[in-house]
Amino acid sequence: MLSKEREEAGPPAPGHRTFVTVEGVSKRFGAGAGSVLAIDYADATIGEGEFVSLLGPSGCGKSTLMKIVAGLVPPTTGKITIRKEEVKGPFTDAGIVFQRDLLLDWRTVLDNIFLQIEIRGLKKADFADKAHELLSLVGLEDFEHRSPRELSGGMRQRAAICRALVHDPELLLMDEPFGALDALTRDQMGLDLQRIWLTTGKTALFITHSISEAVFLSDRVLVMGQRPSRIEQDISIDLERPRTLDMKESAGFGTYAKQIRTCFEEMGLLRG
Ligand code: ADP
Ligand code: MG
Repeated sequence: MLSKEREEAGPPAPGHRTFVTVEGVSKRFGAGAGSVLAIDYADATIGEGEFVSLLGPSGCGKSTLMKIVAGLVPPTTGKITIRKEEVKGPFTDAGIVFQRDLLLDWRTVLDNIFLQIEIRGLKKADFADKAHELLSLVGLEDFEHRSPRELSGGMRQRAAICRALVHDPELLLMDEPFGALDALTRDQMGLDLQRIWLTTGKTALFITHSISEAVFLSDRVLVMGQRPSRIEQDISIDLERPRTLDMKESAGFGTYAKQIRTCFEEMGLLRG
């Protein structure tokens, strides 16, 4: 639900009700000698309205775990529960943003957003207000009739976020959405995503391999190790919101970043 009041009221009280439960999830790809154990035994929860990051090195199984949460890939062992119901197929009440924006260049920005509605067999007219509301929330209101080709990388990714949210899903899943953007644009996207999240109140699972991005955005950071991976640490980020870029230089922010860095050092993934 979009509302100015909500933004003014500040962040949601996160974590008061469990939304997603990851219980004993393992994932093995293939069988026999050539098989790959990607995830060993992951346990985690995401509270309703919470912003949780999944942070880990390349190839550790972050995307796999997100796909398992979304019901797109079955776990080898364990289960995912969303709102007390076990996920046994694609969880449709979700919006997903990938590293590549996957916008169709032959459609306008608005029609790319409506793709979500068309695929779901819903009526576009019912979602026009929502689409416009989201486009202005991300500053793209003047670009709805343009082709994605005319947009910068950051603008394209903003449009992709609108497409993920236009059907008002409960869960927003983002797999390294800023991974292909330059550092300055990434900072701006972090600020924008925080505003979107504060305004819409979605439960969010965000994948990144940037410690700073994870601390900046999250209520909790789940740290994954090397494959076969599990959740090594579950760190609550108790910094006030809305967070500002200045806070990245604060002692509190630095303490969290160091705690995560130390965790990677202890796993042998970083050396001084
Ligand atoms: P991350 O997103 O953390 O970079 P992934 O979840 O993409 O990692 O992959 C984790 C591991 O699982 C990698 O070793 C990858 O090669 C393997 N993997 C992922 N998907 C498949 C698949 N469909 N078939 C076989 N192996 C896969
Ligand atoms: Mg990945």
